[in-house]
Amino acid sequence: MSLSNVTDSSTPIAGRLFAADALLPTGWARNVLLQWDATGRLLSVAPDAAPGDAPQARGPVVPGMPNLHSHAFQRAFVGLTEYRGESQDSFWSWRNLMYRFAARITPESLEAIATWLYIEMLEAGYTSVCEFHYVHHDQDGRPYADDATLSLALLRAAHNAGMGITLLPVLYQTSGFGAKPPRADQARFIRSTDNMLSLLERLAPATRAQGGVLGLAPHSLRAVPPDSLAAAVQGLTALNPQAPIHIHIAEQTQEVEDCIAWSGQRPVQWLLEHAPVDERWCLVHATHMTPQEYLDAARTGAVAGICPTTEANLGDGIFDMPLWLQHGGRWGVGSDSHACVNAAEELLMLEYGQRLSLRQRNVLASPGQAEVATAMTLQAVQGGAQASGRAIGGLAVGQQADLVALDAQHVALAGLPAHSMLSSHVFGSHRTSAIDSLWVAGVQRVSEGRHALHDTGAQAFLAARSATIAAD
Ligand SMILES: [Zn+2]
Repeated sequence: MSLSNVTDSSTPIAGRLFAADALLPTGWARNVLLQWDATGRLLSVAPDAAPGDAPQARGPVVPGMPNLHSHAFQRAFVGLTEYRGESQDSFWSWRNLMYRFAARITPESLEAIATWLYIEMLEAGYTSVCEFHYVHHDQDGRPYADDATLSLALLRAAHNAGMGITLLPVLYQTSGFGAKPPRADQARFIRSTDNMLSLLERLAPATRAQGGVLGLAPHSLRAVPPDSLAAAVQGLTALNPQAPIHIHIAEQTQEVEDCIAWSGQRPVQWLLEHAPVDERWCLVHATHMTPQEYLDAARTGAVAGICPTTEANLGDGIFDMPLWLQHGGRWGVGSDSHACVNAAEELLMLEYGQRLSLRQRNVLASPGQAEVATAMTLQAVQGGAQASGRAIGGLAVGQQADLVALDAQHVALAGLPAHSMLSSHVFGSHRTSAIDSLWVAGVQRVSEGRHALHDTGAQAFLAARSATIAAD
């Protein structure tokens, strides 16, 4: 990524913004003039510039956060599982409840839920989402007349809200290691590998038309047998050699034990030996790794997809960030089950998990960046951009103008230096958001903290949630 203050004069400027303080890949800069073209690509990022007639941000400008892991429909399920049902509730008992909810999703309810979710994400600092989409078929498990119906509902939701998207249709074939047949309540997820590759071909033009990227998500090693994994990755690569590949891995200790019983190897160890894991891959969770697995996985250049609030909500465990960073590991954050939709709070939870387990402070400061919120934001944006397969890696020429402006007059921030404003935003958990405005690809989607579709989006979501609950 290059950082330049030279404007490419041959391309017309379509939008600009002046920020008294902006967080560039190299750190905080003063008096930054950002200019972009009609596609939303940054043409110049000039520190120490004069504002001229550019609109002025109301506070520090930071790069928009890519959300690298989302199951959109689960947003409507929040609050319905926070009670004890079994003597020891776990990820697996939660999943049974979640499947009952998933069984009732319709194309209309999915579009309404996802549209509202993306509006919430934009208001909370996310400018792009990786949608790990596994409910494909109708409520009886049969393909819709148009097999891409639910994927297209998600693309429409992203388009409605103005959210950048990497769509990751999920390959799901078995209920456990050793090609265990799928359960009845998994029928909506199941596709053959050829059928998945046909779906990708069907979705490619529609995704591209709205500036999105299409990838593939083999759900997990327990859901995709080895031959299918190899064929799917090969088929995807033939369609697009750069397409992102995301997989859930080593989220649960039960999954690790089952993988060892099946193969003699742990999930990450198995994956690294049997799949061409490289920079295209995002290892979602990767919570349970040995020190050797941390080293080997980091060396591939793959991104660790950490979902701090979901991992806390589900009792998954804590990712060893210092060890990962020591090996140069890349990472980003996802809101996954959407127990929480707030980019700042994912960073807060990630840092606090490390503090609690290590009994230290400021664990995720980096050698070049002592401010934790600043260091985490820069790293999560870069890792999230890599996992998304899109040019959304920060405020630099050639990257997309995905921008978040904080409100320097917000009571939580006023009078602080810019870097402390970001720290207060991330660690303050304020009752009202300090985000003033947000742009995706140079188009303003949030102003004065609100998305233009906030009210209509919320109403449609509430109707969809009520209908889904009532269908039980
Ligand atoms: Zn997930």
